[in-house]
Amino acid sequence: MSHASEAFKAARRIVFKVGSALLVDAETGAANHAWLRAFCADAAALRDAGKQVLVVSSGAVALGRRRLGLTGRKTTLPEKQAAAAAGQSLLMRAWEEAFEPHGTSVAQILLTRDDTEMRRRWLNARATTETLMGLGVVPVVNENDTVVTEEIRYGDNDRLAARVAQMAGADLLVLLSDIDGLYTADPRKNPKAAHIPLVSEITAEIAGMAEGANAAAGVGTGGMATKIAAARIARAAGLQGF
Ligand code: GLU
Repeated sequence: MSHASEAFKAARRIVFKVGSALLVDAETGAANHAWLRAFCADAAALRDAGKQVLVVSSGAVALGRRRLGLTGRKTTLPEKQAAAAAGQSLLMRAWEEAFEPHGTSVAQILLTRDDTEMRRRWLNARATTETLMGLGVVPVVNENDTVVTEEIRYGDNDRLAARVAQMAGADLLVLLSDIDGLYTADPRKNPKAAHIPLVSEITAEIAGMAEGANAAAGVGTGGMATKIAAARIARAAGLQGF
């Protein structure tokens, strides 16, 4: 059995981070319903196997850009915040529709970096998350982009997901992306890039490989560097990550 399937088997509570590149169709800018349906079927199977699933979902900005007619050019931070506000409801609707056939309800949680760093807010967010999961509801978390500025935002949901996993006492953090893992270089630019199936320790060399290997699809903001940063946070909190 592979390391990943063993970790899935042993995990009781799993946080999945879903990136914009998977959630939003790059061609049309609409939600990728087929992908969402397939993911929710897998999540329901995990639930039926006695596991609790929590989702950290990007996609609000990308969906909102289309809704507000802000596609095809660089957007300012206020425009991104407006897009996040407009897109968040589309994002939640897409999650609701995808989980609905499995009899699963979802609940929106919007957090800022402060919420994950200030003890009182952290405890409140943790208590709400715990209550939702106890009721069999899947929390769908995103950054509350509307109220954060460049200096105080996570900006990417990779590190937010690691904090959420820590907050929720999850055993496993899974960062789902349009790329199948870490490569020695960016495989979209370098044909000699080799896939690294398992990273047991985040060395300086590993961190160096992730530098600059950022999202090329144009809808996400993270890339490999923030995934390595998320893995560091998760490891420090005693979690496993893929
Ligand atoms: N909060 C952003 C959104 O919903 C996502 C940031 C990211 O791409 O990780 O679009």
